Amino acid sequence: MAFDYSGRLERLKDLMGDRGVDVVLLSAGADLSYFTGYEAMASERLTVLVVTIDGEPVLLVPELEAPRLEVGPFEVVAWGETDDPVEIATRQRRFPERVAVGDHMWSAFTIAFQKNWTEAIWVPASTLTRELRMRKDRIEIEELRRAARGVDLVMGRIQDEVRFSGRTERDVARDLSAMTVEVGHDTAEFTIVASGPNGASPHHTPGDRVIERGDIVVCDFGGRWEGYYSDSTRTFCVGEPSVGEAEVHGLVQEANQAGRETVRPGVPCSEIDRAARSVIEAAGYGEYFIHRTGHGIGLEVHEHPYIVKGNDMPLEIGMTFSIEPGVYIPDRFGVRIEDIVACSERGPDTLNAADRSMVRVD
Ligand code: ZN
Ligand code: ZN
Ligand code: ZN
Repeated sequence: MAFDYSGRLERLKDLMGDRGVDVVLLSAGADLSYFTGYEAMASERLTVLVVTIDGEPVLLVPELEAPRLEVGPFEVVAWGETDDPVEIATRQRRFPERVAVGDHMWSAFTIAFQKNWTEAIWVPASTLTRELRMRKDRIEIEELRRAARGVDLVMGRIQDEVRFSGRTERDVARDLSAMTVEVGHDTAEFTIVASGPNGASPHHTPGDRVIERGDIVVCDFGGRWEGYYSDSTRTFCVGEPSVGEAEVHGLVQEANQAGRETVRPGVPCSEIDRAARSVIEAAGYGEYFIHRTGHGIGLEVHEHPYIVKGNDMPLEIGMTFSIEPGVYIPDRFGVRIEDIVACSERGPDTLNAADRSMVRVD
């Protein structure tokens, strides 16, 4: 998919002008891919995009990486094994007053840059880059929709194709990752299978626990599809749930829906969190909802905007984020239901569509 990298770089320069930033330094990571399409490997050999307020952007890469670079709206400088890349990069601008350094820049490089530009004020580049990356264009939303449909397909196949009882969480997780790739993702990036009491730990690592009949199982997984992430959660029951378990599941489903229905341009992020959380609080389970309601998603699985109390930034058209309320009851079980939603002019555009009810599995 071809993105408008020169447009993105122009908008970055406009922002630099507004914020008085002379230089932006971006090393391997999502910011670099966003502006260049280049997926660099983070290593002790520095890769850095140097964007100066008045010059052509320069992408400095180790010489051995240069052959895999594609032409873009930036000059490529390949540095050799005996060169000093930091020195070459700092030559692009004499005495910058304010430098924005990428969140993924290794501190060893940042410290080296700071030794060369001793007078500069340093700010995190994400204060600029998130302004652009948060507002997805149509193509990006379609990329995210395709990835979301991929995990939906996997969710839909679980009931018929995946056996839970008598198998370990690790084995089930392996099936889900394999299916994630099978449906078209380039990679499966994370897979949480949290059964029975393990479900009370939101980021549980699938382990050796053997899943039993009657267990509630939280399955949260996703991968990357041409750079864009999927991330979805459904909660399954091995056999029949108890009345209490079904009640909690219904509550979380209602909270998920309340959160999604609140999405529209102009509504503060905190308001989405409040809408979902108040459903759970009203039923007396507030203390068991122990995380924010959601996170932005795009080239990274967690990025701005964060759907959390205190973030009063109003939603805008093109923002994409998860809505994933949960209830986690220690030593018993957990429930989470997670969808990716895009804020559209008409309100919520939910990218995931898999059955949100508690599907029974064997
Ligand atoms: Zn999470
Ligand atoms: Zn998730
Ligand atoms: Zn998530």
